Amino acid sequence: MQNATLKQLAEALASKAASSEELAQDYLTRINALNPDLNAFITIDADKSLNEARAADARRAQGQAGLLTGVPLAHKDIFVAEGWRSTCGSKILSNFVSPYDATVVARCKTAGLVNLGKLNCDEFAMGSSNENSAYGVVKNPWDRLAVPGGSSGGSAAAVAARMVPAATGTDTGGSIRQPASFCGITGIKPTYGIVSRYGMVAYASSFDQGGPMAQTAEDCALLLNVMAGFDELDSTSLERAPEDYTRELDTPLAGLRIGLPKEYFAEGLDGEVAAAVLAAVEEYKKLGATVVDVSLPRTRMAIPTYYILAPAEASSNLSRFDGVRYGHRAAEYTDLNDMYEKSRSEGFGEEVKRRILTGAYVLSHGYYDAYYLKAQKVRRLIAEDFQRAFEVCDVIMGPAAPTAAFDLGSRASDPLQMYLEDVYTLSPNLAGLPAMSVPAGFTRTGRPIGLQVVGNYFSEAKMLGLAHQYQQVTNWHQQAPVL
Ligand code: GLN
Repeated sequence: MQNATLKQLAEALASKAASSEELAQDYLTRINALNPDLNAFITIDADKSLNEARAADARRAQGQAGLLTGVPLAHKDIFVAEGWRSTCGSKILSNFVSPYDATVVARCKTAGLVNLGKLNCDEFAMGSSNENSAYGVVKNPWDRLAVPGGSSGGSAAAVAARMVPAATGTDTGGSIRQPASFCGITGIKPTYGIVSRYGMVAYASSFDQGGPMAQTAEDCALLLNVMAGFDELDSTSLERAPEDYTRELDTPLAGLRIGLPKEYFAEGLDGEVAAAVLAAVEEYKKLGATVVDVSLPRTRMAIPTYYILAPAEASSNLSRFDGVRYGHRAAEYTDLNDMYEKSRSEGFGEEVKRRILTGAYVLSHGYYDAYYLKAQKVRRLIAEDFQRAFEVCDVIMGPAAPTAAFDLGSRASDPLQMYLEDVYTLSPNLAGLPAMSVPAGFTRTGRPIGLQVVGNYFSEAKMLGLAHQYQQVTNWHQQAPVL
């Protein structure tokens, strides 16, 4: 069962080959064995998980099971879950037990999915290596000296290590795709507004988007069917008719036009990553696709644009953590301002503080026009570049990240070097476009490489379909680390 996909687990439950309680128990055993080393989970609560599993079994016995009822998964600790400690990877929320469910968590519950715990992540989803978590680094299951990527590093590592068959993640500037690529799994960030942000603790609200992370594109489609949908509790949730994201899994690829942006194969791209991505494109040609050259001329501007706008939004969003209503409060203080200052100084880590400072600066009087407003204008231009490209192609392909997973500690002291990691993932978030990472090979040293696919708005079903077709003729997604 260890390498089973969501689809296979659903079939095992339907045929009564396994009960949900047995599955939960098996995965919890593996989690307990591997987590002390990998640190993918922040919170595990076997009793709670087993209760959910028994409830799923009861539901099935009553003939009320849906497709995924009784299948286990785990949630990135950015999603709050009722009765679960929900930390966002931050010390400031170390004692916060949520009184309610995020909409994504609630939707998974309604579908009968069993929550196996809360997954490690960079603090408030700020980072590209999971080294910014107050709960310690996550190790990459393929190579314990390597980072798992971030910020959904716990989610990616847990799926790669087969501690869970699937996980939720969030992606503000690449946090589903880059860790998926570093850990050799499949993950999709949907079009902005498709997955509710209610209860998904805000980092940069106009970018943040939740999405599924799993072994296969088919599993991502099944989980996205559960996660996505209009939510009146999120003012940016899109009111659209429900979609079946599995509907294009079997669509043949003949005639598919793949755009290759020259800016995605430029200086700084590792040779092995480039070779693996181009080999994947060759595979697509065999499946009937054609390739066209496109240009996304403002790719380089994505980094400064994102690192102005996202911190600006973060500086506002994180003002709610003040030690008054919830979370860490300093033990000693002289007055209210001192209490705020000490609580926040003690509760937030270095990277979060750096972003709050940057964000407050670019929003301040006198700098707003020069930085924030200008970045908003460039954001629009970046979105327009994509629309020009989509006039001649159906999807864009390139690397998810310029390198495979790098060594733990190798970039942590240099924030600019770390931000460069996001060069290929940020633009789709700036434009609100769906984007995914699909396993496409390994480096000579055995670290996974991801192919990034960017689609036009609402093309998730098409993207998942073309990833599924690729996974029918390749087996990168089936490789698992020996643990
Ligand atoms: N690495 C990017 C950042 O640090 C993106 C993180 C994310 O997508 N949550 O902001």
